[in-house]
Amino acid sequence: MDERKIRKTTFPLVDGHCDSIAGHVAGEWDLTVGGGRLSLPMLRQAGVAVQFFACFVKEDGKPESLILRGLELVEGCRRLIAENPADLCLLETAARLDEVLDTGKTAILLSVEGGKILGGKLFMLSLLYRLGVRSLILTWNYANDLAGGVREPGGLTTFGRDVVREMDRLGMLVDVSHLSDPAFWDVLDVSVRSVIASHSCCRSLYDHPRNLTDGQIKALAEQGGVIGINFYTEFLTGGKAALEDVVRHVDHVCSLVGPDFVGLGSDFDGCESLPVGLENAGCLPALMQALLDRGYSEENTAKIAGGNFLRVIRQVLAD
Ligand SMILES: [Zn+2]
Repeated sequence: MDERKIRKTTFPLVDGHCDSIAGHVAGEWDLTVGGGRLSLPMLRQAGVAVQFFACFVKEDGKPESLILRGLELVEGCRRLIAENPADLCLLETAARLDEVLDTGKTAILLSVEGGKILGGKLFMLSLLYRLGVRSLILTWNYANDLAGGVREPGGLTTFGRDVVREMDRLGMLVDVSHLSDPAFWDVLDVSVRSVIASHSCCRSLYDHPRNLTDGQIKALAEQGGVIGINFYTEFLTGGKAALEDVVRHVDHVCSLVGPDFVGLGSDFDGCESLPVGLENAGCLPALMQALLDRGYSEENTAKIAGGNFLRVIRQVLAD
Protein backbone atom coordinates (compact mmCIF):
# COMPACT_ATOMS: atom_id res chain seq x y z
CA MET A 1 0.00 0.00 0.00
CA ASP A 2 1.55 3.28 -0.99
CA GLU A 3 1.79 6.26 1.33
CA ARG A 4 -0.94 8.19 -0.45
CA LYS A 5 -3.36 5.34 0.00
CA ILE A 6 -2.54 5.14 3.71
CA ARG A 7 -3.22 8.85 4.11
CA LYS A 8 -6.50 8.55 2.30
CA THR A 9 -7.59 5.64 4.45
CA THR A 10 -6.48 7.09 7.76
CA PHE A 11 -7.46 10.70 7.30
CA PRO A 12 -10.34 11.36 4.94
CA LEU A 13 -9.94 15.10 4.41
CA VAL A 14 -12.82 17.54 4.34
CA ASP A 15 -12.32 21.13 3.20
CA GLY A 16 -15.26 23.25 4.30
CA HIS A 17 -14.80 26.08 1.83
CA CYS A 18 -13.30 27.00 -1.53
CA ASP A 19 -14.30 29.54 -4.15
CA SER A 20 -12.70 27.70 -7.03
CA ILE A 21 -15.82 27.22 -9.16
CA ALA A 22 -16.17 30.90 -10.13
CA GLY A 23 -12.89 31.08 -12.06
CA HIS A 24 -13.60 27.72 -13.67
CA VAL A 25 -17.01 28.85 -14.90
CA ALA A 26 -15.51 32.14 -16.13
CA GLY A 27 -12.82 30.25 -18.06
CA GLU A 28 -10.01 31.80 -16.00
CA TRP A 29 -8.75 28.36 -15.04
CA ASP A 30 -9.61 24.72 -15.61
CA LEU A 31 -10.14 22.68 -12.47
CA THR A 32 -9.66 19.43 -14.38
CA VAL A 33 -5.97 20.15 -14.94
CA GLY A 34 -3.30 20.75 -12.30
CA GLY A 35 -1.91 24.07 -11.16
CA GLY A 36 -3.61 26.91 -9.36
CA ARG A 37 -4.84 26.65 -5.79
CA LEU A 38 -7.12 23.69 -6.22
CA SER A 39 -7.67 21.18 -8.99
CA LEU A 40 -9.12 17.73 -9.42
CA PRO A 41 -5.63 16.15 -9.61
CA MET A 42 -4.70 17.90 -6.34
CA LEU A 43 -7.88 16.77 -4.59
CA ARG A 44 -7.14 13.21 -5.66
CA GLN A 45 -3.49 13.41 -4.68
CA ALA A 46 -4.23 14.89 -1.24
CA GLY A 47 -7.07 12.46 -0.55
CA VAL A 48 -9.82 15.04 -0.14
CA ALA A 49 -12.97 13.05 0.58
CA VAL A 50 -15.37 15.97 0.73
CA GLN A 51 -14.81 19.39 -0.81
CA PHE A 52 -17.32 22.15 -0.20
CA PHE A 53 -17.76 24.23 -3.35
CA ALA A 54 -19.14 27.65 -2.49
CA CYS A 55 -21.18 29.47 -5.11
CA PHE A 56 -20.53 33.09 -4.25
CA VAL A 57 -23.44 35.47 -4.78
CA LYS A 58 -22.45 39.11 -4.84
CA GLU A 59 -24.26 41.61 -2.69
CA ASP A 60 -24.77 44.48 -5.07
CA GLY A 61 -26.72 44.37 -8.29
CA LYS A 62 -30.25 43.68 -9.41
CA PRO A 63 -31.90 40.82 -7.50
CA GLU A 64 -32.54 38.92 -10.76
CA SER A 65 -28.90 39.09 -11.80
CA LEU A 66 -27.73 37.89 -8.37
CA ILE A 67 -30.07 34.90 -8.55
CA LEU A 68 -28.94 34.09 -12.10
CA ARG A 69 -25.30 34.37 -11.09
CA GLY A 70 -25.81 31.98 -8.16
CA LEU A 71 -27.65 29.48 -10.35
CA GLU A 72 -24.93 29.72 -13.00
CA LEU A 73 -22.35 28.67 -10.41
CA VAL A 74 -24.56 25.87 -9.04
CA GLU A 75 -24.96 24.58 -12.59
CA GLY A 76 -21.21 25.01 -13.14
CA CYS A 77 -20.52 22.73 -10.16
CA ARG A 78 -23.05 20.17 -11.34
CA ARG A 79 -21.57 20.17 -14.84
CA LEU A 80 -18.03 19.76 -13.47
CA ILE A 81 -19.21 16.74 -11.47
CA ALA A 82 -21.14 15.27 -14.41
CA GLU A 83 -18.16 15.64 -16.74
CA ASN A 84 -15.71 14.07 -14.30
CA PRO A 85 -17.50 11.02 -12.90
CA ALA A 86 -14.24 9.14 -12.22
CA ASP A 87 -13.07 11.88 -9.82
CA LEU A 88 -16.16 13.56 -8.42
CA CYS A 89 -19.63 12.87 -7.15
CA LEU A 90 -22.30 15.02 -5.56
CA LEU A 91 -22.92 14.63 -1.84
CA GLU A 92 -26.65 14.91 -1.23
CA THR A 93 -27.54 12.43 1.51
CA ALA A 94 -26.02 11.24 4.76
CA ALA A 95 -26.86 7.68 3.80
CA ARG A 96 -24.54 7.82 0.79
CA LEU A 97 -21.63 9.26 2.73
CA ASP A 98 -19.91 5.97 3.59
CA GLU A 99 -20.44 4.65 0.09
CA VAL A 100 -18.94 7.84 -1.28
CA LEU A 101 -15.96 7.61 1.08
CA ASP A 102 -15.32 4.05 -0.09
CA THR A 103 -15.13 5.06 -3.74
CA GLY A 104 -12.07 7.24 -3.18
CA LYS A 105 -13.70 9.99 -5.22
CA THR A 106 -14.04 13.53 -3.94
CA ALA A 107 -17.63 14.23 -2.94
CA ILE A 108 -18.67 17.78 -3.64
CA LEU A 109 -20.90 19.46 -1.09
CA LEU A 110 -22.66 22.33 -2.83
CA SER A 111 -22.84 25.51 -0.81
CA VAL A 112 -24.10 28.99 -1.61
CA GLU A 113 -22.29 31.98 -0.10
CA GLY A 114 -24.81 34.78 0.16
CA GLY A 115 -28.53 34.62 0.95
CA LYS A 116 -29.44 37.02 -1.82
CA ILE A 117 -29.73 34.00 -4.09
CA LEU A 118 -33.11 33.43 -2.46
CA GLY A 119 -34.53 36.71 -3.74
CA GLY A 120 -36.48 36.97 -0.49
CA LYS A 121 -38.47 33.82 -1.29
CA LEU A 122 -38.48 30.71 0.87
CA PHE A 123 -39.41 28.47 -2.06
CA MET A 124 -35.99 29.25 -3.56
CA LEU A 125 -34.41 27.37 -0.67
CA SER A 126 -36.22 24.13 -1.45
CA LEU A 127 -35.52 24.69 -5.14
CA LEU A 128 -31.81 24.99 -4.37
CA TYR A 129 -32.11 21.87 -2.23
CA ARG A 130 -33.53 20.01 -5.22
CA LEU A 131 -30.53 21.21 -7.22
CA GLY A 132 -28.24 19.59 -4.67
CA VAL A 133 -27.31 22.59 -2.52
CA ARG A 134 -26.75 21.45 1.06
CA SER A 135 -25.31 24.52 2.77
CA LEU A 136 -25.97 28.24 2.83
CA ILE A 137 -23.80 31.03 4.20
CA LEU A 138 -26.57 33.43 5.10
CA THR A 139 -24.70 36.63 4.26
CA TRP A 140 -21.42 37.75 2.91
CA ASN A 141 -19.86 40.74 4.71
CA TYR A 142 -22.81 43.10 4.46
CA ALA A 143 -26.35 42.89 5.74
CA ASN A 144 -29.03 41.41 3.51
CA ASP A 145 -32.66 40.47 3.98
CA LEU A 146 -31.63 37.44 6.07
CA ALA A 147 -29.08 38.81 8.51
CA GLY A 148 -26.33 41.27 9.38
CA GLY A 149 -22.79 40.65 8.19
CA VAL A 150 -19.42 41.37 9.76
CA ARG A 151 -19.21 44.78 8.09
CA GLU A 152 -22.84 45.81 8.53
CA PRO A 153 -24.46 45.03 11.85
CA GLY A 154 -27.82 43.46 12.44
CA GLY A 155 -29.26 40.26 13.77
CA LEU A 156 -31.32 37.63 12.02
CA THR A 157 -34.39 39.09 10.31
CA THR A 158 -37.83 37.48 10.37
CA PHE A 159 -37.11 36.08 6.89
CA GLY A 160 -33.69 34.92 8.07
CA ARG A 161 -35.33 33.03 10.96
CA ASP A 162 -37.70 31.36 8.52
CA VAL A 163 -34.74 30.41 6.32
CA VAL A 164 -32.84 28.84 9.24
CA ARG A 165 -35.93 26.86 10.33
CA GLU A 166 -36.52 25.67 6.76
CA MET A 167 -32.85 24.66 6.43
CA ASP A 168 -33.20 22.65 9.65
CA ARG A 169 -36.31 20.99 8.24
CA LEU A 170 -34.74 20.17 4.87
CA GLY A 171 -31.44 18.99 6.34
CA MET A 172 -29.07 21.73 5.20
CA LEU A 173 -25.95 23.00 6.94
CA VAL A 174 -26.46 26.51 8.31
CA ASP A 175 -23.13 28.30 7.91
CA VAL A 176 -22.38 31.24 10.24
CA SER A 177 -19.12 32.40 8.67
CA HIS A 178 -19.37 36.09 7.64
CA LEU A 179 -22.28 36.77 10.00
CA SER A 180 -22.32 39.72 12.41
CA ASP A 181 -21.97 38.76 16.07
CA PRO A 182 -25.68 39.39 16.84
CA ALA A 183 -26.74 37.31 13.83
CA PHE A 184 -24.40 34.51 14.95
CA TRP A 185 -26.12 34.35 18.33
CA ASP A 186 -29.57 34.53 16.75
CA VAL A 187 -28.76 31.57 14.48
CA LEU A 188 -27.61 29.48 17.43
CA ASP A 189 -30.81 30.41 19.18
CA VAL A 190 -33.09 29.49 16.27
CA SER A 191 -31.36 26.43 14.78
CA VAL A 192 -32.04 23.10 16.46
CA ARG A 193 -29.20 21.45 14.56
CA SER A 194 -25.40 21.65 14.64
CA VAL A 195 -24.26 24.68 12.69
CA ILE A 196 -20.94 25.19 10.96
CA ALA A 197 -18.52 28.08 10.57
CA SER A 198 -17.07 26.81 7.31
CA HIS A 199 -14.13 29.23 7.04
CA SER A 200 -13.38 31.22 10.20
CA CYS A 201 -10.45 31.58 12.59
CA CYS A 202 -10.03 32.51 16.28
CA ARG A 203 -10.48 36.15 17.27
CA SER A 204 -8.42 35.81 20.45
CA LEU A 205 -5.39 34.94 18.29
CA TYR A 206 -6.01 37.69 15.77
CA ASP A 207 -8.62 40.35 16.37
CA HIS A 208 -10.64 40.46 13.15
CA PRO A 209 -14.44 40.58 12.90
CA ARG A 210 -14.39 37.57 10.53
CA ASN A 211 -12.87 35.49 13.34
CA LEU A 212 -14.88 33.88 16.14
CA THR A 213 -14.60 34.88 19.80
CA ASP A 214 -13.85 32.24 22.41
CA GLY A 215 -17.46 32.53 23.57
CA GLN A 216 -18.73 31.85 20.05
CA ILE A 217 -16.40 28.86 19.65
CA LYS A 218 -17.65 27.41 22.95
CA ALA A 219 -21.29 27.93 22.02
CA LEU A 220 -20.83 26.40 18.58
CA ALA A 221 -19.09 23.40 20.16
CA GLU A 222 -21.82 23.00 22.76
CA GLN A 223 -24.26 22.73 19.90
CA GLY A 224 -22.08 20.06 18.27
CA GLY A 225 -20.96 22.15 15.30
CA VAL A 226 -17.59 22.53 13.62
CA ILE A 227 -15.27 25.41 12.74
CA GLY A 228 -13.21 25.16 9.56
CA ILE A 229 -10.00 27.12 10.07
CA ASN A 230 -9.54 29.62 7.25
CA PHE A 231 -6.10 29.73 5.61
CA TYR A 232 -6.33 33.42 4.65
CA THR A 233 -3.24 35.09 6.15
CA GLU A 234 -5.27 38.23 6.92
CA PHE A 235 -7.41 36.24 9.36
CA LEU A 236 -4.59 34.08 10.73
CA THR A 237 -2.10 36.78 11.68
CA GLY A 238 -3.09 40.00 9.90
CA GLY A 239 0.10 39.77 7.84
CA LYS A 240 2.46 37.06 6.75
CA ALA A 241 1.65 33.55 7.86
CA ALA A 242 2.90 30.00 7.56
CA LEU A 243 1.38 26.55 7.88
CA GLU A 244 2.23 26.63 11.60
CA ASP A 245 -0.21 29.53 12.07
CA VAL A 246 -3.08 27.32 10.94
CA VAL A 247 -1.85 24.79 13.51
CA ARG A 248 -1.94 27.56 16.18
CA HIS A 249 -5.58 28.27 15.41
CA VAL A 250 -6.38 24.55 15.49
CA ASP A 251 -4.54 24.35 18.84
CA HIS A 252 -6.57 27.22 20.21
CA VAL A 253 -9.94 25.64 19.38
CA CYS A 254 -8.72 22.33 20.84
CA SER A 255 -7.54 24.00 24.03
CA LEU A 256 -10.92 25.69 24.44
CA VAL A 257 -13.32 22.87 23.56
CA GLY A 258 -11.30 19.75 22.73
CA PRO A 259 -10.56 18.12 19.37
CA ASP A 260 -14.13 17.39 18.24
CA PHE A 261 -15.16 20.76 16.83
CA VAL A 262 -12.42 21.95 14.49
CA GLY A 263 -11.70 21.25 10.85
CA LEU A 264 -10.39 22.94 7.72
CA GLY A 265 -11.94 25.68 5.61
CA SER A 266 -9.16 26.62 3.20
CA ASP A 267 -10.85 29.46 1.30
CA PHE A 268 -8.71 28.49 -1.73
CA ASP A 269 -9.43 30.87 -4.62
CA GLY A 270 -11.46 33.07 -2.27
CA CYS A 271 -8.63 34.80 -0.42
CA GLU A 272 -5.74 36.89 -1.58
CA SER A 273 -2.82 35.38 0.31
CA LEU A 274 -2.10 31.95 1.71
CA PRO A 275 0.37 30.70 4.31
CA VAL A 276 3.81 29.54 3.28
CA GLY A 277 3.53 25.77 2.98
CA LEU A 278 -0.21 25.81 2.32
CA GLU A 279 -0.33 27.39 -1.11
CA ASN A 280 -2.68 24.85 -2.62
CA ALA A 281 -4.83 21.80 -1.94
CA GLY A 282 -1.88 19.51 -2.61
CA CYS A 283 -0.34 20.81 0.66
CA LEU A 284 -3.12 19.48 2.91
CA PRO A 285 -1.27 16.24 3.81
CA ALA A 286 1.65 18.40 5.01
CA LEU A 287 -0.75 20.11 7.43
CA MET A 288 -1.84 16.73 8.76
CA GLN A 289 1.80 15.75 9.19
CA ALA A 290 2.41 19.00 11.10
CA LEU A 291 -0.42 18.10 13.50
CA LEU A 292 1.06 14.63 14.05
CA ASP A 293 4.51 16.16 14.58
CA ARG A 294 3.02 18.53 17.13
CA GLY A 295 1.83 15.56 19.13
CA TYR A 296 -1.77 15.14 18.02
CA SER A 297 -2.79 11.50 18.12
CA GLU A 298 -3.76 9.74 14.90
CA GLU A 299 -7.35 9.70 16.14
CA ASN A 300 -7.50 13.43 16.82
CA THR A 301 -5.67 14.29 13.60
CA ALA A 302 -8.27 12.28 11.69
CA LYS A 303 -11.05 14.24 13.41
CA ILE A 304 -9.46 17.56 12.47
CA ALA A 305 -8.68 16.38 8.94
CA GLY A 306 -12.32 15.65 8.25
CA GLY A 307 -13.92 13.46 10.89
CA ASN A 308 -15.56 16.36 12.68
CA PHE A 309 -17.07 17.76 9.50
CA LEU A 310 -18.21 14.26 8.52
CA ARG A 311 -19.96 13.88 11.88
CA VAL A 312 -21.92 17.09 11.37
CA ILE A 313 -22.73 16.24 7.75
CA ARG A 314 -24.07 12.86 8.89
CA GLN A 315 -26.18 14.51 11.57
CA VAL A 316 -27.64 17.27 9.47
CA LEU A 317 -28.16 15.89 5.96
CA ALA A 318 -31.20 13.69 5.39
CA ASP A 319 -30.74 9.97 4.66
ZN1 LIG B 1 -16.15 33.72 2.43
